[in-house]
Amino acid sequence: MSCSICPRNCKVDRTVAAGFCGCSSVVRVARAALHFDEEPCISGTRGSGTIFFSGCNLKCIFCQNMVLTSGTLGEVFDVPRLEDVMLKLQEHGAHNINLVTPTPHKDAIVAALRLAKAEGLSIPIVYNTNAYETVETIRAYEGLVDIYLPDLKYLDPRLSLKFSRAADYFETAIESIAEMIRQVGYMETDENGIAKKGVRIRHLVLPGCVFDTRSVLDAIKSRFGIDCPISLMSQFTPIPECTVKPLDRPLTPREYEKALDYCISLGFTNVFTQALSSVGRSFTPPFSDHVDL
Ligand code: SF4
Repeated sequence: MSCSICPRNCKVDRTVAAGFCGCSSVVRVARAALHFDEEPCISGTRGSGTIFFSGCNLKCIFCQNMVLTSGTLGEVFDVPRLEDVMLKLQEHGAHNINLVTPTPHKDAIVAALRLAKAEGLSIPIVYNTNAYETVETIRAYEGLVDIYLPDLKYLDPRLSLKFSRAADYFETAIESIAEMIRQVGYMETDENGIAKKGVRIRHLVLPGCVFDTRSVLDAIKSRFGIDCPISLMSQFTPIPECTVKPLDRPLTPREYEKALDYCISLGFTNVFTQALSSVGRSFTPPFSDHVDL
């Protein structure tokens, strides 16, 4: 069966060979644990039940989780193991199940979610994605996913080509996000500020690229309006593997301030911001070939 799960449209038979994402037909998970480094509405007080999948269909050259992008790290999970770990995270008190870089694993995740829900999984399901998705793949999650956290990384195709080998990134991502919003609307929280459902768009401000942040924010306002919830992230951290300028240096506080000032000037009503102390802080948890849950 040829794979067209994402816009790379590799058309490889993943039982025989891996595609661009590095994923064969098996699912690998490199961490499943309560996680406290998401937005407060996702991490809450008890943590987000986060499942980090191995492999990635975007492979940004500055990725802080670079070790995961080859698709070879992590423990092999079949569908029952995936279902089991979702239920265990719920038992451990997670506010939600947070599927990180789920894109290449659509079939297994959809099957596991159906089984887990039948067995009592009732906390919200979070789909945490780089947004380089097809609308068809996002449609497969209708009724299964409660919360979408799509990154909207770039608007300028020169940047998306240079940094993620995807010149069509923006035009593809914006349509996938529109489908997410059609399904679940904008993010809503409960009386304790914990997310119940809806979309929040993330954007990581990149060093030397505030011009593109402005374009991304303009595009969100133009397509979805000022009430669309946004997380404007400052946590970019240069990695030794990436020597491409300007991604070889940290984001400066001044750059983040400029991005934030522009966001405020556009009138967005629901913006999560990160403290400037997040600049340069590592948000990478430990990954391994063994999931201890
Ligand atoms: S999920 Fe992987 S194999 Fe399938 S089209 Fe995307 S990059 Fe290619």
